[in-house]
This record gives sequence, C-alpha cells and structure tokens, in this order.
Amino acid sequence: MLVTLKDVLTIAEQKKIAVGSFNTPNLESLQAVIGAAEGLKLPVIIQFAQCHESWLSIDVIGPIMVEAAKKAAVPVCVHLDHGETLDYLQKALDLGFTGIMYDGSTLPYEENVENTRKAKEMAEKAGASVEAELGSMGRRESGAGDKTGSQDETKIYTDPDQAAEFVRETGVDALACSFGTVHGIYLTEPRLDFDVVKNVRRKTGGIPVVMHGGSGVSREDFHLAVAAGVRKINYFTYMDKAGGTAAADCIASVKDGMPVFFSQVMMAAREAMKKNVQEAMATFALQN
Ligand SMILES: [Zn+2]
Repeated sequence: MLVTLKDVLTIAEQKKIAVGSFNTPNLESLQAVIGAAEGLKLPVIIQFAQCHESWLSIDVIGPIMVEAAKKAAVPVCVHLDHGETLDYLQKALDLGFTGIMYDGSTLPYEENVENTRKAKEMAEKAGASVEAELGSMGRRESGAGDKTGSQDETKIYTDPDQAAEFVRETGVDALACSFGTVHGIYLTEPRLDFDVVKNVRRKTGGIPVVMHGGSGVSREDFHLAVAAGVRKINYFTYMDKAGGTAAADCIASVKDGMPVFFSQVMMAAREAMKKNVQEAMATFALQN
C-alpha cells in the first residue's frame, strides 16, 4: 500500500524503531526490498537518488516503484533521495512519489532554508512529505568510489540549535543529520556522536532524524541510533555489494566452456540483496 513519508515515520515513532530506506535503481533491488518488507511485515521506504540518473532514469523506474508500492502488502513510501534541483523534485512528485528529499546541505544556510521551504510547498500540493539535510556528510550517495580517505575533511556535524531554527522555518517532516556517518564504504571505523541526534530531537520537539550512510555501521550502533531518535535509515551500498558478490559467485560457478545466462545472474543477485535487506530491516526494527 502506497503511503507518505510522514505515514511511515509515524509508525516508526509509535514503535520506537527506524524504517529502512533502500535505493532501488533496478528491478532486482526493487523486488528484493519489497519482498524483504513483506516477509518481515514491516513498513519500508523505496527511494531513487537523483545522482543515479545515469544508471537508469527516474522516468523509467519511478512509475514501476509507485505501482510496486501500491500492490505491496505492507505500507511503502516512494521517496526521492538527494533531490538537488526543484525541477527534479517536481518531476518526482508528478510521477507519484510520496516523499522527497531536498538536499541543500552544500548551500549557504539561508539558501538551503529558502529552497527547502519551496520544496515543502510543492510537496504539500501533491500530498507528499519532505526530508531535508543540515550539516554535511562529506560525500553524496555515489561516493562509494572515493578512495582518497578525505571524507572527514568536508564533514560538518549538524548544529542542534541551527536544526531547531531550520525545522521551525521550513516545516520539514524529517531531518537528515550529520553525526559521523558517511556515504559509501567506510575507510575507517565509524565514530558516531549520538548526542547530536538526542539534542536535535530535544531542541526540535522530536523531529524524526534520518541517518544516511547505513552500510558498515555495527548492529550495536544501529540500536543506539534508534534509541537516540533516528527514525529512517538510508542503506544501499552493502545491499548493492551483496548483489554484486552473488553475481560474481554465480558466474564463477559456471563450468569452463559453458554459457553464462544473464537471467540466472540477476536472480542470484536478487536473492542475495533480499537476504541482506531483510537482516538490515530486522536490525533497524530492533528484531535482531
Ligand atoms: Zn544520503
């Protein structure tokens, strides 16, 4: 059943859990995530990041995501991840997305406020909800290829006082905060500052906090993050890696001289992603 971002976050708040939010830039990952959520009977967020346009256009996968959400046996929000321009946000809303993230985290504060406000107006007209970002996590969604080890230099932790002002001025439904996580593969052990999350929650009157960069965070840290007030966890890199590893194993298992069939590789990847997502979702819902 297709629901808004606000709807799934309300469920998360009531249950004191975090909802998993997974990028689905292909049919296999989409089926894996919906299958995992239905298996666990948990609400879920499927999302498409603007920076994945070069992999597959939102025009192609967006309507398929919306249809899959409508048919699902659990509440599903179809969300735009890291929308960078207002035109692109509108495109997602026109396709029927029920949540949009406006990422103005690299802009000056005032400009971030101004654009986020516009995003909120646009979303309200479409009956959708808005996530925004304050502070910087250093790398964007496609940052997995960064091997320079320089991510910490551009990371700016969210200031809880500024977050309170930002939420008041923009009326957003969820806030992505920077408290030590990064996108992509962690080059060093993540050190998370849960006080940032707790203080943002306290000073904003309980805004649902979004954690980006969920791949590579320990189970213990996930549990601490949820306890501190994280209600949405973005997770993609490890799921994508699980699919890739399964595909490589599938190809390697074919005997010399025998043909490799693409459909078999895709099925192996889908199964592996489903298993990986199921484990992540169970952890975010404090079931393991
Ligand atoms: Zn992100």
